[in-house]
Amino acid sequence: MENPGNYQETSFRDRPTTFSKEGKRVWLYPKMPQGKLYNIRRVIAWTLLAFFYAAPFLKLKGEPLIFLNFLERKFVLFGNTFYPQDFHLLVLAVIALVVFIVLFTVIYGRIFCGWACPQTIFMEFLYRPIEYLIDGNADKQKRLAQQDMDAVKALKRILKHSIYLVISFITILTFVAYVTGTERLGHIISGWPLQNFGMLSGVLAFTGAHYFVFAWFREQVCIVVCPYGRLQGVMLDVNTIQVAYDYKRGEPRGKGGDGKHGDCINCRKCVAVCPTGIDIRNGTQLECINCTACIDACNSVMHVMNRPLGLIRFASEKSISEGREIRFNARAIAYSAVLVALLSVIVYLFTIRGSVETTIIRAQGTLFQEYGPDSFSNLYNLEIVNKTNSSVKVELKLLSSGGEILVMGDSLKVDKGEVAQRNLLIVLKKTEVHSSNNKLEIGVYQSGKLIDKIPTTFVGPNSLDKP
Ligand code: SF4
Ligand code: SF4
Repeated sequence: MENPGNYQETSFRDRPTTFSKEGKRVWLYPKMPQGKLYNIRRVIAWTLLAFFYAAPFLKLKGEPLIFLNFLERKFVLFGNTFYPQDFHLLVLAVIALVVFIVLFTVIYGRIFCGWACPQTIFMEFLYRPIEYLIDGNADKQKRLAQQDMDAVKALKRILKHSIYLVISFITILTFVAYVTGTERLGHIISGWPLQNFGMLSGVLAFTGAHYFVFAWFREQVCIVVCPYGRLQGVMLDVNTIQVAYDYKRGEPRGKGGDGKHGDCINCRKCVAVCPTGIDIRNGTQLECINCTACIDACNSVMHVMNRPLGLIRFASEKSISEGREIRFNARAIAYSAVLVALLSVIVYLFTIRGSVETTIIRAQGTLFQEYGPDSFSNLYNLEIVNKTNSSVKVELKLLSSGGEILVMGDSLKVDKGEVAQRNLLIVLKKTEVHSSNNKLEIGVYQSGKLIDKIPTTFVGPNSLDKP
């Protein structure tokens, strides 16, 4: 990796800034960012948090907004119910998502990490603000950490960690609500704890893990654990747009605007706000989550210095080294087109998904049978999946010939979310059976409306085949 910004200082290459020479953890006290980008991030983060905590409780078409019922293999997304029969959609969506993430990262860098990743959202917009509220700003936090334990410090620690634990507990219960549904969760909570001992143990274990991550482990998730973060090295290149320091404009550092120095006054405000503790002036680093806090910090300095904003900005390494604005090259345009195409495919697949899925296949190992003096019959297996939120009644009619469909068993009424399986006979007059393999089309009707056409075949005697 180049070190375009700081020509003297290279110790950042030796180890992550959060590890000391002895290999011990260096605790970070990032300053609270302020600025336009932070304000936008805050709105996005609070919207995402509100959605996360509310989604299992909100209902659409009588179903929760999101319900991931793994036990019954039933998944509800925004009022649409998905069953194992829709598994192919899920596989396609996951493949498309992986390709999407890779291509998006190649062009636009790690924006997801700083703007939408749950780790950043929880840390920077829920847990960190509570810390600012109780322990004070970054300087006060540092002083508090270094001072001996006294009544005030103890009180602050107990208050902060109690709030963290409560938030962690509520967060894990929300996750559980996504899987069990809010009604079942209500029963579990109101029941005797020992009746749900397994569930309670799981909730407490995950609460502990969640608390550990946000109270202590923090930025280490992004720096040493997250696989997406580790993959940046192979996904980014000189054309990738990311948070970057304009070393051409900023160096040599010193008193900006005196003719001898660049615009960087070495105030280190960009470093002070960084939640992963790095100095972006050392160039692109694996630890950078593209949160843009350093952009806001540096812009406030440039504003005071009466210099153009954007000494740190979204830019590609190439655009900075060539001293020009970001240009979308052919590759970026082609990748963006693929991204749009992928999204369109996913949306299309989900919109064409039928709410009632009917499958009719001829029963294995059966041929035709005489049915009365003048007809033949074939036996079929019928399966109807009702993916709607109410019961449906379907009718079957032959569209391609004048025969008859005889369904064995109950009427074709299928309750919501249920799968009905029946056998059926198709009976054709001998005069309508022209060969050993006759093509048929069956119409599926719901409330008198044709909702699907299913092609199948009807087997007749070989002797009918023309030589
Ligand atoms: S270098 Fe800037 S964008 Fe990157 S993590 Fe630090 S503050 Fe955020
Ligand atoms: S905030 Fe801007 S001016 Fe200050 S050290 Fe960082 S890059 Fe230089």
